[in-house]
Amino acid sequence: MRVNKDDQVLVISGSSRGKRSRVVKVDRAGGLVTVEGVNVVHKHVRRSRRNPQGGRLTMEMPIAVSNVQVICPLCTQPTRVGVRYGEDSAKFRVCKKCGADIAQISPAKK
Ligand SMILES: [Zn+2]
Repeated sequence: MRVNKDDQVLVISGSSRGKRSRVVKVDRAGGLVTVEGVNVVHKHVRRSRRNPQGGRLTMEMPIAVSNVQVICPLCTQPTRVGVRYGEDSAKFRVCKKCGADIAQISPAKK
């Protein structure tokens, strides 16, 4: 899974299709990402000591990674993400459209 926290992504499915936003949380084991402003649900809460007013809490629920595409910060296009090995087997994520490095995944080994 080549999506990380704070990546800009394009939602390609569901009611927020076409929306560009930021990844706030990644669940690698579950293959899920939580995207800012996407899949927002309202949770109705009773009054309690912690929440004396009660009311509606808005929160974002995770969506499947397959429903988002990473947006390359350089060419600003939604793209697939590849992996490139640099010097000393440092690992980079690369944009499949323009070939630019998006981010480094792991540092060089000695
Ligand atoms: Zn690019």
